Amino acid sequence: MIRLNDITSDILSYHPIADIGLIEKAYVYSAKVHKGQVRLSGEPYLTHPLEVAGILTKMKMDEVSVASGLLHDTVEDTLTELSDIEQMFGKEVTGIVDGVTKISKIHFLSKEVQQAENIRKMILAMSSDIRVILVKLADRLHNMQTLGFQPPEKQEAIARETLDIYAPLAGRMGIYWLKSTLEDLSLFYLEPKIYKDIRLGIAQRQEGQEKFIREIKEILSRKLSEANIKTTIKGRHKHFYSIYQKMMEQDLNIDQVYDILAFRIIVNSVKDCYEVLGLIHSMWNPVAGRFKDYISLPKANMYQSLHTTVISPLGERMEIQIRTWDMDKIAEEGIAAHWRYKEGYESGKEMYTQYAWMKHLLESQKSLTNPKEFLETVRLDLFSNEVYVFTPKGEVKELPRGATPIDFAYSIHSEIGNRCIGAKVNEKIVRLTHQLETGDIIQILTSKNHKPSKDWLKFVKTSTAKTRIRQWIKKEGRIESITIGRDILEKELKKFNLNLTRHFSSEQLLDVVHRFSLNSVDNLLANIGYGKISAKQVLNRLVPHLGIKEDKTEGLVQKIVHKIKRKKGDTGIKVKGMSDMLIRFAKCCHPLAGESVIGYITRGRGVTIHSKKCRHIQDVDPDRLVEVEWEPSEDMTYLAKLKVTNIAKKGMLSILSAIFTQSEANILDANVQTTIDKKGISTFTIEVSDYAQLRDIISKIKKIKEVLKVERI
Ligand code: MN
Repeated sequence: MIRLNDITSDILSYHPIADIGLIEKAYVYSAKVHKGQVRLSGEPYLTHPLEVAGILTKMKMDEVSVASGLLHDTVEDTLTELSDIEQMFGKEVTGIVDGVTKISKIHFLSKEVQQAENIRKMILAMSSDIRVILVKLADRLHNMQTLGFQPPEKQEAIARETLDIYAPLAGRMGIYWLKSTLEDLSLFYLEPKIYKDIRLGIAQRQEGQEKFIREIKEILSRKLSEANIKTTIKGRHKHFYSIYQKMMEQDLNIDQVYDILAFRIIVNSVKDCYEVLGLIHSMWNPVAGRFKDYISLPKANMYQSLHTTVISPLGERMEIQIRTWDMDKIAEEGIAAHWRYKEGYESGKEMYTQYAWMKHLLESQKSLTNPKEFLETVRLDLFSNEVYVFTPKGEVKELPRGATPIDFAYSIHSEIGNRCIGAKVNEKIVRLTHQLETGDIIQILTSKNHKPSKDWLKFVKTSTAKTRIRQWIKKEGRIESITIGRDILEKELKKFNLNLTRHFSSEQLLDVVHRFSLNSVDNLLANIGYGKISAKQVLNRLVPHLGIKEDKTEGLVQKIVHKIKRKKGDTGIKVKGMSDMLIRFAKCCHPLAGESVIGYITRGRGVTIHSKKCRHIQDVDPDRLVEVEWEPSEDMTYLAKLKVTNIAKKGMLSILSAIFTQSEANILDANVQTTIDKKGISTFTIEVSDYAQLRDIISKIKKIKEVLKVERI
């Protein structure tokens, strides 16, 4: 069993000014709260946090991480509260312990492979401090090393999760020894038979292999020293999981896998790397397509190396990696190789927070040409804008930050969104405006007859939800408009004892449809419903087809035209592209001539004119808005209501009325009040001919010294 002394002397070896006091304090506390607890192995529980701390020193982590490793299970498995940890060990340790505890609570229910990447991203998203992941990885390694004490079904589940989630995370952090160790341990539990075959296969060939490694090393050393290159050469068999992958890919058994050996040549400079590569390729034939230059194109985690596969003197393939000592350090230690433990080093600052490391990666990656890898790196950086949540079945969904249960519902299926009446987050009923957080499990409550609400548009975050809600409103609005349009048209036809289905053939109807440049009868009816086309216009075009007597037809048309003309003249507004629309002014914003306005097509009631600033038109279906413009008109007047607030003063009313008179505006109504704090509040209803006139009046009132505020109401 590892002892505290081993841990402290380890950390001092690479980080001489480490705060050992913090680690000792964490040890004492952990020992106290875990006292009496035992692991399945029968050992005292404390062995686990101690081993985790030991792994963290192997990863060359700082004292904060090591202390967090000692404390990582205290909140989950003892009575310790996060606030206790914060009081004793400060914010950084607390943040890490909290993060590790949260990750442990995620239930990886889904077995689907494509979910694994989402879960990895979720873990990264939950770890605002990258040390959370590293402590979690150390925890997982020790749990894998002691997995034998768990019951078989647990062994399989944990091993699967390790292979799918944690080993790739270790790879992303660039810690390859950890990645391979986790993979091999997982393989041992997931494919025990194949694992044993591989172990046996390697053991049987060991003698031959050792001899072979010696020979290759000798040849290489001789050749390289002739070229005056100083090198260190390492030969080893590949790790089990990569041999296993090869067996699966090529459907081989272990005896058929020959290239299980890999060599690593470490040199002093980048120039030497390429020289060594040249020499090797001149001695042994390279296998086509296997050369990779990660020196000029580093991996996203900053891994650098030259990889090549050549045919060995025995006719077998062998893999060779060539790199400098610096590159080797990065490949061995991953992220930890970037820590700089030096004088003036302040733990936590910059280095760890906010993915400083990832950002650093990004900076050094600008030349990266593999777009997928680049994207992955960038995505890490953008995690703060996303949340990862679960369906009740354990599927992970990625949503933008601020997303609500409605967004989630639409991300599953548009029908689930349309019928959503409520949601449970982690088993508790929440409002539909509730903002989801990473790790939440969400259950959507639906009802068959429920319909989406326009109000949802105000808070949903995803474009999918927005589009679906709009589509629904539009579709629903259209169905309604078709019904209304049909009613209007039928009513009009009835006046002439006609019936749409009985007296008109579909050809006749379609002909009229085409004359309005539309493509279906439903479209025509919807347009009548919206008020874009009047029933009379349609009738006018339908009637000649029916062969009604000339005189009667003329009379009808004239009547219609006459009616339309009368209506049109008295509004002072023109709808672009349409001549005879029923116009009314919105009561909510009372638009005035000259003000910029927009028309809203109502269902069957023509066009309502709103001020462009009116709140009510901001959320409506844009398809129902039409451009309108003012028609110059001499004798039109409009009503406007003004509220004037002023310092109370005698004669104020007469000053104000003088302005209205001067500006030739009629006062229809006036109301003056004085408040307790000696302010005068007057409201006027006046008649003006256009917006310009009103603006002029307002600016004149504002110039009065005592006036505090003028508002249109
Ligand atoms: Mn643990």
